[in-house]
Amino acid sequence: MIQILIAEDEKPISDLIQFSLSEVGYRCTCVYDGMAAANIVTERAFDLILLDVMLPEVDGFELMEYIRPLGIPVIFLTARADVQDRVRGLHLGADDYIVKPFEIIELQARVEAVLRRYHKTDRTIEIGGLTIDTYSRQVMRAGAELALTKKEFDLLLLFARNPGIAIYRETIYERVWESDYLGDSRTVDLHVQRLRKKVGWEKQIKAVYKIGYRLEV
Ligand code: CA
Repeated sequence: MIQILIAEDEKPISDLIQFSLSEVGYRCTCVYDGMAAANIVTERAFDLILLDVMLPEVDGFELMEYIRPLGIPVIFLTARADVQDRVRGLHLGADDYIVKPFEIIELQARVEAVLRRYHKTDRTIEIGGLTIDTYSRQVMRAGAELALTKKEFDLLLLFARNPGIAIYRETIYERVWESDYLGDSRTVDLHVQRLRKKVGWEKQIKAVYKIGYRLEV
């Protein structure tokens, strides 16, 4: 499931965005100030961030400095239709820009377009010698289908959709097991080991000291 972070301090707007994106199948997490946004992006893997420019504590432009190295797509949200702001946001590495107030349908379309550009919503992902069909949940390697369990497939998909990004064990646990991480890293480590063997990614899935794992292809 695609995970979207909404960093917007106006609750009614945040609620509206969450409602309209959840409706079309995205999972949303909301934060209401810049500090909370900076913290959560280093702890969890998001597929997209909707970032309000005028945020308390740390504003959206400053936050881009943290976010850009993580390689997560960003759409800026702002009430100001000012051209200067739009240009600045795009120069800082934002993928798109939405001026408030906006139509729900426009928001959904822009989110979808950015996710598509990053291949986050593709039916088929080709990576590291594998062809992954995200609809039928089939994985092919050199013409042969690999037999993966549900958890192994979900884990593979998480890596395949976030190549080059260090993913925390907590994030892996929460996204694949869909429950709160209680500090048992063995479950994650065992599954990663098994996945490496099954798909032939012994070298590609690297352990990242004190963090978790990163896919390098
Ligand atoms: Ca604001």
